[in-house]
Amino acid sequence: MKLSLVVPCYNEAENVALFQQAVIDAFDGCGYDYEIVFINDGSRDATLHNLKKLYAAQKCPVKVISFSRNFGKESGLYAGLQYASGSYIALVDADLQQRPEIVRDMVRILDEHPEYDVVAAYQDRRNEGKVLSFFKKCFYSLINTLSDVTLQPDASDFRTFRRSVRDSILELGEYHRFSKGIFSWVGYDTFFIPYTACERASGTSKWSFWKLMEYAIEGIIGFSTAPLRLSAVLGMLAGVAAIIYLIWVIVEKLAFGISVPGYATIIVLILAFGSLQLFCLGIIGEYVGRTFEQSKNRPIYIPKEVLNYETDQQTE
Ligand code: UDP
Ligand code: MG
Repeated sequence: MKLSLVVPCYNEAENVALFQQAVIDAFDGCGYDYEIVFINDGSRDATLHNLKKLYAAQKCPVKVISFSRNFGKESGLYAGLQYASGSYIALVDADLQQRPEIVRDMVRILDEHPEYDVVAAYQDRRNEGKVLSFFKKCFYSLINTLSDVTLQPDASDFRTFRRSVRDSILELGEYHRFSKGIFSWVGYDTFFIPYTACERASGTSKWSFWKLMEYAIEGIIGFSTAPLRLSAVLGMLAGVAAIIYLIWVIVEKLAFGISVPGYATIIVLILAFGSLQLFCLGIIGEYVGRTFEQSKNRPIYIPKEVLNYETDQQTE
């Protein structure tokens, strides 16, 4: 198998058949074989029903991994990579915002350039609000300053890579998954190509502002321990300030005979240090929580049903 297209689907009932048709059109006459690995991420609409129809129709090789509930796109990608048997693996959304024709170009680039292992698409024009763009920019500069990995702003999950890259990604079995960081962490030589995201074929985006915010925190906590150091630095700064203030109070008392200033200062200091301590505890809590969840060693996803043409053929 030359190419596996890994496609996470959450409530994409209207899109899956369109997607498959777009793939068939794009790869018609390309001269190599390909499969589509659909992951039904606990959809509450007719996605699974429609995927089963695609599987039965056998217009092209299809695998369907259906989760027992919604585990999130990251878990979907992980499952898809596990089931992908192609020498090249492409990660594509089901909503046709990322066109299969671009995957064909990515495959060609990998064929022509053995020195590259990954071809990743980045959005050259964004069709989103200014506020969201601003927050995304802030996030990228923050994470690139704080963490060991460097994230390419605007680069998406939309990419095609060799099987060796897939194997490396699967070795990172962390429960809290942040794909952008994982791609960067595993390394390999990446070729970037621009693309413009199309409008969704149908349905709405599953990302709200707060979900994106959570995802951003996931990225920073998952790939940097700098926030932990922050509490130590803040503690030290506060200590130095306290010593300077102490000296000032003693000098005031001895030289000018002014006694310790009163109530307001003390209340403000108690509040300031109280909140500083809670803030630092909160940061530590984020890490402890993730360590706790990882230590439970729960699976990244639970497959309720798997339709696999490869194993079907074996059992026949
Ligand atoms: N998706 C998923 N599980 C989720 C949320 C999204 O598998 O919990 C899939 C979704 O079906 C789509 C892809 O991830 O194929 C990208 O989602 P979406 O289009 O909502 O994101 P956007 O394009 O707005 O970033
Ligand atoms: Mg989308």
